[in-house]
Amino acid sequence: MPSRVPNRPVCRSCDGFPVVSITTGDRHRDGSRATLTVACPACKGTGHTLPASAFAKTGR
Ligand SMILES: [Zn+2]
Repeated sequence: MPSRVPNRPVCRSCDGFPVVSITTGDRHRDGSRATLTVACPACKGTGHTLPASAFAKTGR
């Protein structure tokens, strides 16, 4: 398993961890923690930056 995938560079904004759960401090009735899930806005939660060619193709 390669450590680098050239075609899909890791997002610099989130460093490959696009989705983060934030503990709000509240709890649900069943005792579980209430969390907010936030996806990285830069990569839309994919964890990878989009190649420049993708922008060019979808730029219409
Ligand atoms: Zn990201």
